[in-house]
Amino acid sequence: MPLHPVPARPDGLPDRIRHWIGGAFRDSADGAVFDVADPVSNSPYASAAAGGAADVDLAVAAARDAFPAWAAMGDRERANLLYRVADAVEEREDRLAGFESFDSGLPIAQARGQARRAAENFRYFADVIVALGEEAYRVGDRQLNYVVRSPTGVAGLITPWNTPFMLESWKLAPALAAGCPVVLKPAEWTPLSANLWPEILSAAGVPDGVVNIVHGIGAEAGQALVDHPDVPLISFTGSTTTGRHIVRSSAEHLKTLSMELGGKSPVVVFADADLDAALDSVLFGVFSLNGERCTAGSRVLVERSVYDDFTRRLAERAERVRVGAPGDPSTEVGALVHPEHYARVMDYVETGRGEAKLVAGGGRPSHLPEGNYLQPTVFADVPRDARIFQEEIFGPVVAVAPFDDEAEAVELANSTRYGLAAYVWTGDLRRGHRVAHAVESGMVWVNSHNVRDLRTPFGGVKDSGLGREGGAHSIDFFTESKIVHVMLSEVDTPRFGVS
Ligand code: NAD
Repeated sequence: MPLHPVPARPDGLPDRIRHWIGGAFRDSADGAVFDVADPVSNSPYASAAAGGAADVDLAVAAARDAFPAWAAMGDRERANLLYRVADAVEEREDRLAGFESFDSGLPIAQARGQARRAAENFRYFADVIVALGEEAYRVGDRQLNYVVRSPTGVAGLITPWNTPFMLESWKLAPALAAGCPVVLKPAEWTPLSANLWPEILSAAGVPDGVVNIVHGIGAEAGQALVDHPDVPLISFTGSTTTGRHIVRSSAEHLKTLSMELGGKSPVVVFADADLDAALDSVLFGVFSLNGERCTAGSRVLVERSVYDDFTRRLAERAERVRVGAPGDPSTEVGALVHPEHYARVMDYVETGRGEAKLVAGGGRPSHLPEGNYLQPTVFADVPRDARIFQEEIFGPVVAVAPFDDEAEAVELANSTRYGLAAYVWTGDLRRGHRVAHAVESGMVWVNSHNVRDLRTPFGGVKDSGLGREGGAHSIDFFTESKIVHVMLSEVDTPRFGVS
């Protein structure tokens, strides 16, 4: 096998990662830094500025200064800048994918896909802002009511470590399209790809101060952004625990919040499904992106008549998934992002051994003695109250359980606190729709893996989040609407005080 555990150090790897505020790189006001390591050697390759309230203050001030001109720019002109950002991202695909893969452990082939998707996000939101019309209503011949949409203000964007660059683009693009300047707080475990934004945005001609980046630890830099009185919007993607904390902290300033949180998404496989296609989708859904995917189909519910056979085939295929160095183009599952996360996932695997039947994986691959590597792991006969059935593991670990009929499948699917995504496999399209409607989740795929048109609303219900991202939903989030009522005929206000 061409797999090797030693990461290729990508060209141009910086040894310092600094904030980017008002178009200039800066150290933290107090000089604080933290180490950043790659997930294969787990030894530091750079030190990053550890931001705090003073750095966030500066970044918010720079964003406020940039706001009037950015908001006043026509939609078409802003869109043209966003197209150029997309081009600049594409021109750097090799470097971006190399950095992302090195820093987060994502297989390089998948990191390339994520870089391309980041470019697509910019093109897409440029199109949206130009196409978006304003609402207007004429009431008879007498009144005209219309809606004016304006950017709300400085947006705080807080993002996680899984597919960091792509998720940053998913927030940056609509915020910028809508006319909001931003302060971005990238995840502290994976700040490397964010360090390319300054180059990309400057190359595209985005004015200084429109995008500001403050690196740092969540409880310090992130919290300072959440607490800042001049940041009326927080768009957050991350864990449910942090999301809940941010909702509480934001109450003081009544901030507008978007919360994209955790998941434990079910895949329901009926006996009449195309089982080969379902199997491919199950493997891809839980093992791609190292299983560190919010919409991972991490609970697989299989109709009893095909359960044994499907589970056996799933386990066999899982054993053959290529685990290896993130930088190797043949790798399917790379290294988990951080030793702390790796230990957490390993704990779940240990817990799972006591809760269910381990049928594939369950440990470190023998050919990879160093680094945060885990074999793709399959647990069968998982009871519904098992922790590995209920809790988000966020790694290459899947829980499989049988069901007897449709009602039980839906009940099992809905039996966790999460509600982000769901997948249904059946040969009966009516049943596909029925189950799709009954499942408590923001998104359902029927006979399909995780593909989605960017116009559709992305987001979850229950503990998986608040609000939706995508299409006009994102633009709604970053703008305030104001209705203007105009009287077109003579004013006929009821007359008070004339007697
Ligand atoms: P996390 O909640 O630990 O961190 C996310 C971000 O929040 C990081 O930038 C972190 O520094 C910051 N943060 C932490 N504490 C903070 C605080 N007190 N105030 C402000 N910011 C703070 O999440 P993570 O471990 O980085 O990401 C994994 C989680 O993200 C998983 O639960 C996954 O399901 C979820 N996720 C959800 C989606 C979605 O669209 N629903 C997408 C990707 C990831």
